[in-house]
Amino acid sequence: MENLLPRFLEYVSIDTQSDPNSKTTPSTEKQWKLAKKLVLELSKIGLEKVSIDENGYIMATLPSNLNKEVPTIGFIAHYDTTPDYTGANVKPQIIENYDGGDIVLDKASNTVLSPDYFEDLKQYEGQTLITTNGKTLLGADDKAGVAEIITAMEFLIQNPEIKHGKIRVGFTPDEEIGRGVHKFDVKKFGADWAYTVDGSQIGELEYENFNAAGAKVIIKGKSVHPGYAKNKMINAIGVANEFLSLMPPREVPEMTEGNEGFFHIHGIKGDIENAEFELIIRDHDEEQFQARKGLLRAISEKLNNKYGAIISVEINDQYRNMKEKIEPVFHIIEIAEVAMLKIGIEPIIKPIRGGTDGSQLSFMGLPCPNIFAGGHNFHGKYEYVPLESMQKAVETIVKICELTGEKF
Ligand SMILES: [Zn+2]
Repeated sequence: MENLLPRFLEYVSIDTQSDPNSKTTPSTEKQWKLAKKLVLELSKIGLEKVSIDENGYIMATLPSNLNKEVPTIGFIAHYDTTPDYTGANVKPQIIENYDGGDIVLDKASNTVLSPDYFEDLKQYEGQTLITTNGKTLLGADDKAGVAEIITAMEFLIQNPEIKHGKIRVGFTPDEEIGRGVHKFDVKKFGADWAYTVDGSQIGELEYENFNAAGAKVIIKGKSVHPGYAKNKMINAIGVANEFLSLMPPREVPEMTEGNEGFFHIHGIKGDIENAEFELIIRDHDEEQFQARKGLLRAISEKLNNKYGAIISVEINDQYRNMKEKIEPVFHIIEIAEVAMLKIGIEPIIKPIRGGTDGSQLSFMGLPCPNIFAGGHNFHGKYEYVPLESMQKAVETIVKICELTGEKF
């Protein structure tokens, strides 16, 4: 376990920011630097079949030490960081025995990590916190996950009395730009199920995410001299406004939480002849999700009946709730839950208000819930991770391996 912190600090010191505008995989050349280091590390600790493909996908095997057949399980993390905030020159600060007060990240810019604003901090009093220096993100998302998986494998190798089946490890580039598993070879990975170690606070266990679609509403108006427009002009801007007024006003991101779905308008432009707006649709419930898409079509039909066929609605599905793929194999959640309870963690099971790589993998044939990696405030300078949470993530991974060996 003593290698966990140095490992993490080494990984975050390497800039692996991904880039949505690039067409290559990995999207940035610099991700190779850490990828190559990880390959060496996996071999060094004694894993077998360590491989990296031309797209930067890393896989490795910890062979079974049981004399019976048990399911093969996997652990997956991503080694890129978000394009939203700089990940260059990360200089972490280590706060030992955190006193529960304000942490000055950067004096010059008065950047302070305060429990008055970030209340989660309070639960880590007395622990060791790893923070930024107020100028970059930290990269615990998801280098904490990478360091935890490697450390757990090392622990299993050093403690052969802990019995387990075959374990597969997978590290991916470009998760932060939504391409983390596009080129993930599920067949080559060869696991019965896997866990992404990419969640936030200690205890998180997630197997429900949004159903997601994007939509575009296009309105064609009719321009006529405003002085002589009566019963002739159709103002596309006005029709767009009418369309929006027929949508449920409270079902928007800023007024919803938990299991509540929403519509989110994120772009609008228009003049008299042409108007269009773009929105995203999110709902955990499949039926509600379909109903939301239906509502857009119904409003369009209603206004088309009023004005003539001037509105078209394009809807594209984006990702789906993995719940339907996890429920038939629910023991994979129970194992993770029991693993956490056995090492003294209270599991926090809640729906994700977004998507995960695991949801895509689940629909690609690899059921893949998400467990905590320990960090908070991802994608910005207030990101931090308690060392104790990282240690508990290592223990959770080890326990999941052990329980899977016992259960089957
Ligand atoms: Zn992540």
